[in-house]
Amino acid sequence: MVIKGIAASNGYAIAKIFKIETLALDVTDEKIASYEDEKLKFDTAHQKSISELQTIRDKAIINLGEEHGAIFEAHLQMIQDPELLGGIESMMENDLVNAAFALQTVSDSFIAIFESMENDYMKERAADIKDIRKRLLCHLLEVKMNDVTLIDEPVVVVAEDITPSETAQLNRDFVKGFATNIGGRTSHSAIMARSLEIPAVVGLKSVLEKANHGDQVILDGVSGEIFLNPTQEMITTYEQKLVEYNEKKLLLQRYLDKKSVTLDGHQVEMSANIGTPDDVDGIIANGGEGVGLYRTEFLYMGRSNFPTEEEQFIAYKTVLERMDPKPIVIRTLDIGGDKELSYLDMPEEMNPFLGYRAIRLCLDRKEIFVTQLRALLRASIHGQLKIMFPMIATISEFLDAKSILLETKEALIKEGIEVSEHIEVGMMVEIPAAAILADQFAKHVDFFSIGTNDLIQYTFAADRMNETVSYLYQPYNPSLLRLIKMVIDAAHKEGKWAGMCGEMAGDHIAIPLLLGLGLDEFSMSATSILSARALMSKMDMKKLKPLAEKALDMSHNDEVMNLVNDYLEEIK
Ligand code: PEP
Ligand code: MG
Repeated sequence: MVIKGIAASNGYAIAKIFKIETLALDVTDEKIASYEDEKLKFDTAHQKSISELQTIRDKAIINLGEEHGAIFEAHLQMIQDPELLGGIESMMENDLVNAAFALQTVSDSFIAIFESMENDYMKERAADIKDIRKRLLCHLLEVKMNDVTLIDEPVVVVAEDITPSETAQLNRDFVKGFATNIGGRTSHSAIMARSLEIPAVVGLKSVLEKANHGDQVILDGVSGEIFLNPTQEMITTYEQKLVEYNEKKLLLQRYLDKKSVTLDGHQVEMSANIGTPDDVDGIIANGGEGVGLYRTEFLYMGRSNFPTEEEQFIAYKTVLERMDPKPIVIRTLDIGGDKELSYLDMPEEMNPFLGYRAIRLCLDRKEIFVTQLRALLRASIHGQLKIMFPMIATISEFLDAKSILLETKEALIKEGIEVSEHIEVGMMVEIPAAAILADQFAKHVDFFSIGTNDLIQYTFAADRMNETVSYLYQPYNPSLLRLIKMVIDAAHKEGKWAGMCGEMAGDHIAIPLLLGLGLDEFSMSATSILSARALMSKMDMKKLKPLAEKALDMSHNDEVMNLVNDYLEEIK
């Protein structure tokens, strides 16, 4: 059976299916006959949960570092909490209720206490209790819990959706691909998949229902298809494709130390989008000329409290030092939309992508913002730092953010802390209002970075997570190209540079157009850099400028796509 979805991360995978099911945990208040028997049942479930958590903690430390391990260390402490255990035992003994019911009742009261606390750190302990309760209930009710961190053989993970923090827990050695019911090419799980180099197909709508745990599957991250229970013939075809894919990757290695330059000598910068300091390995392996977007929100995810100034400082310093003297654009916290923090109380919103997110949240919760800015400024002396604010809609927002940055800098200097004098401060252009007023913004910023993932969704009013309207993801539509041109022209008029860090920057149909429009910097998943550089080396600016001009005068996304495809055929 073939299911068609959206190709989210290149490559092929042939492996067994690992399903992450939404669990049904039905707890009833049935009475028990013997306290001793029930206590034994609880102790067994408790022991199993403890040893699983120990395995997960050890794996997290090895694969993801100490800080991720600490989350599970906290779970281990909580699952052995004497008050929690005492409460459950006495309820079983006195009321003769079953272990699952006692666990549910006692943990509910703990959760309620934590949730009512003022302090954010204490509040988030409630989420931890829910987590360990789920594990214990699975053992008590004999419901199989498919825990991604326990995977120890090659698999394709199939799920409704994979959250960015779950993606971060996937073990690259065994997870050969992932397939999800929801999501689009620019959802954050898709972006993470590309940076982890895991082939992925998203927006499959019904894969979770149709796939069986343990069955064979082929995942085609190029065409966006998955084949359930394929024939031997198909497996052989795909094994061949996999070999060719790897050979092609090897051939691109000759562009590793080359400049990003057209046939007629026009040079740009091709840099990488990263989410964690570990991604620096990927940039080096793929010949990136810098970091065009460091999505710092991943530092805040997959944990139970805010990262401290010191933790952030270490992460930023690591990237700056390892990449020095290459330029590093670090974006301040862009939380909200599809990126949530379990420990940050966010209002329920009808439209989270249009709501309280990114710079809006940072200007409102100044203490969160200032902690990050202090860490960034302290790290600035360790490399070529550029700071960028996300989701700027108005000039006032940019000026407010910049003045908080300057205040923070002065405070640090007063404390005797050294800060670089050469930090460029720029903004993302993700909102049409900012693109339209780019000529005025250009007087205040040092650079623009166009975030097309959001700019496209806001220009066409089409949610980037909603596969039903994914036909409106139209990167070549002249309306969008005209907005991009306005930004680039405005930057150049003021002697500033314009880059792009949306996924469009690594798209082979977009690249000729963006070069023709004069884009200076292209920031993409590290794994896309070499093929983009190889493509660019076959192009001629004398042809690209008229090509872009022609595209701007067209009416349809497809028309532009055909125009560029004809050109790409010509230079093949
Ligand atoms: C963008 O919107 O294009 C972008 C790069 O930011 P993010 O994908 O993190 O929203
Ligand atoms: Mg964005």
